[in-house]
Amino acid sequence: RSRNGHEPEFLQAVQEVAETTIPYISQNKIYNGKNILLRMVEPERLISFRVSWIDDKGEIHVNRGYRVQMNSAIGPYKGGLRFHPSVNASILKFLAFEQVFKNSLTTLPMGGGKGGSDFDPKGKSDDEVMRFCHSFMAELCRHIGPNTDVPAGDIGVGAREIGFLFGMYKKIRNEFTGVLTGKGLSWGGSKIRPEATGYGTVYFAENMLKTRDETIEGKQVVISGSGNVAQYAAEKVIQLGGRVLTLSDSGGYIHDKDGIDEEKLAWVMDLKNNRRGRISEYAEKYSGATYHKGETPWSVPCDIALPCATQNELDGKDAESLVKNGCICIAEGANMPSTPEAIHVFNEARVLFAPGKASNAGGVATSGLEMSQNSLRISWTREEVDQRLRGIMEDIHSSCIEYGMESDGYCNYVKGANIAGFVKVADAMLAQGVI
Ligand code: NDP
Repeated sequence: RSRNGHEPEFLQAVQEVAETTIPYISQNKIYNGKNILLRMVEPERLISFRVSWIDDKGEIHVNRGYRVQMNSAIGPYKGGLRFHPSVNASILKFLAFEQVFKNSLTTLPMGGGKGGSDFDPKGKSDDEVMRFCHSFMAELCRHIGPNTDVPAGDIGVGAREIGFLFGMYKKIRNEFTGVLTGKGLSWGGSKIRPEATGYGTVYFAENMLKTRDETIEGKQVVISGSGNVAQYAAEKVIQLGGRVLTLSDSGGYIHDKDGIDEEKLAWVMDLKNNRRGRISEYAEKYSGATYHKGETPWSVPCDIALPCATQNELDGKDAESLVKNGCICIAEGANMPSTPEAIHVFNEARVLFAPGKASNAGGVATSGLEMSQNSLRISWTREEVDQRLRGIMEDIHSSCIEYGMESDGYCNYVKGANIAGFVKVADAMLAQGVI
């Protein structure tokens, strides 16, 4: 804490893991007394660099770029890049730390990392985004590689940005390798990668519901966000017969009592991915919907809640409102969207609650499958990737049950995910010695 006191998000993520793993460590001789958690919380490397770029008017801007290489005990660093004005070392360290446990849970050989910049792609032209990405990669390319560190997308980094980043990496290094995931289908991308985080979150929720003999069909579902994760979580819920009531962005949320069907969702995807508009426009387009400026959707009664926007977007009061209104299952699509107070409320109420490191791991798992396909120089079918994704989500769910079951039969998924993720990384670190 004394070393990272100015990093609140990082401390929050570490505290959650420490609370659940320290009792486990002290009961297990092989981990006890090895300062293993202390070693895990210190990044192996944190790179910070200048990114200068020129806007369409010829003006020069300077942003800060980062890559946090957190832990490579079980494989090359792997984790997304985030472009958002809020990005700083604390946020990236929290994300990289979470990523270590998440990647371990996928059962694939991937270490943990995260990176990004305080650059805001909102309101920038395609050319400006391209110039920024090229400048960012001109430095980042020294630190990454298909066997070293393989970045992907995150908030503000989608297919467009990955394309620009990959183009510059290829030009400088003169090699066509799987150094980034989330690539376009015609140049090394995997089928189902854009869908994977959202689909995986819903597959995980299906597994959770199954423990109570429930399914998604007929359930009322509240989703936050309207980016990559939210869009495909909504698509899968609709396919499985659930009713999606809300979507949001940083301006507010829309509530459609009639449900957001496939056609309306296609309109949202075009709005967000092509026209880069605001979710408020939904309520202008569809008369049955209302827009709630500056609010989050957690007061809307529902059976299932899927927070898919950003960290700390669901607090203790929101959690109380969800529980009071009958919500039985919360699966995080975003990273750390629920505050510690909210998680406490869910656990006390004994409702099903899955932390992002378990329920949103489908994205990085499919990135791992993209890396495998790149190495083998083959491309699996949509069905094959989807089937593997379903299998991985089921396995992660089983690991959570194995380590998270309480004596009263309630599964504490936070504890289960933290311990299951910890064991594999800790074993590898112990085997490799103190380095
Ligand atoms: P996108 O950039 O595609 O979408 C982000 C969405 O969240 C947008 O609707 C955005 O609204 C909203 N949002 C962002 N910041 C805030 C904020 N401060 N307050 C309220 N709303 C906000 O990102 P993704 O969908 O890729 O990522 C969403 C979450 O999922 C993140 O936590 C990310 O780390 C996590 N995640 C993503 C994975 C992936 O594969 N993409 C994998 C695993 C986790 P606006 O447009 O107004 O900014």
